[in-house]
Amino acid sequence: MAGRVLIVGSGPAGLASAIALTHAGLQCEIVEVSPPSRPAGIGIALQSAPLRAAKRLGIFKQLLEVGRPHHVIDMCRPDGTIVATVPQLNVNEPDDPRSSGWRARVCTR
Ligand SMILES: Cc1cc2nc3c(=O)[nH]c(=O)nc-3n(C[C@H](O)[C@H](O)[C@H](O)COP(=O)(O)OP(=O)(O)OC[C@H]3O[C@@H](n4cnc5c(N)ncnc54)[C@H](O)[C@@H]3O)c2cc1C
Repeated sequence: MAGRVLIVGSGPAGLASAIALTHAGLQCEIVEVSPPSRPAGIGIALQSAPLRAAKRLGIFKQLLEVGRPHHVIDMCRPDGTIVATVPQLNVNEPDDPRSSGWRARVCTR
């Protein structure tokens, strides 16, 4: 496949589309209306299904190298007391992490 694609927006959908379309042989140009920004809060987390998508895009290993993989999510009070532990589903390989988090400063590398 050959051709050029204009992708409007550099959010997760735009960036993932650019990777997939580039792998398919298309030349992608991304336009973004907002200035570069970090994720709100302390960072972002991805659960098993988006991690599976990252695997298909060929970025799974690189993402995990800079992430904090985990199999459960602890729900905490502001003082850190754990009030619930939520197991995460796994739709990937049995040994793959069920979820992973990235600090905001890692997301802008
Ligand atoms: C506070 C907060 C925390 C979140 N945490 C998580 C999390 O931990 N894990 C998770 O999976 N999801 C999280 N989400 C949800 C996640 O951010 C969204 O699901 C995701 O950003 C959607 O991606 P998108 O690419 O569809 O849209 P967007 O991320 O909204 O990207 C669209 C982009 O298009 C640009 N754009 C729009 N119009 C134009 C135009 N006309 N020309 C050029 N550019 C344009 C916008 O500026 C934007 O950058 C969180 C959301 C919020 C608000």
